[in-house]
Amino acid sequence: MKCPFCHHIESKVTDSRNANEMNAIRRRRECLQCSQRFTTFETVDANIQVKKRNGNFEDFSIEKLISGIDAAARHTRVSHQRVRAIANEIAVQLMEMQSKEIDTTKLGEIVMKRLQSIDTICYIRFACVYKRFKDVDELMDAIQTVGLEK
Ligand SMILES: [Zn+2]
Repeated sequence: MKCPFCHHIESKVTDSRNANEMNAIRRRRECLQCSQRFTTFETVDANIQVKKRNGNFEDFSIEKLISGIDAAARHTRVSHQRVRAIANEIAVQLMEMQSKEIDTTKLGEIVMKRLQSIDTICYIRFACVYKRFKDVDELMDAIQTVGLEK
């Protein structure tokens, strides 16, 4: 991320938060050379392939991740807005791993670990369903099916 003042390449992130409606992360940065501060909006475009248990790949979908977490968060103190923020953080985490693919088991573990630190009920619910289905894709497909039936 180039500094807009001196075009130095390195900066440090001083604050990071979700700009929810646009699936973007708002970051306050400080240039390591001239110390000027600036704000960036980084769109979550993970461009990562998720490897399913059957060996097939599909594009990582933040919307799918949001529906999966949303279902687990129903009737808990975790709001939809919070769910979007969590999903964004996970997408950023995936991008920062700089890997082009992730398998669904690992993705499920990342989600569980994140939820564990946020809300116990939400975590347990996600973990129960996830472990039963043993595949986060199956889980999310199932959740979406249930959602359609209502
Ligand atoms: Zn600078």
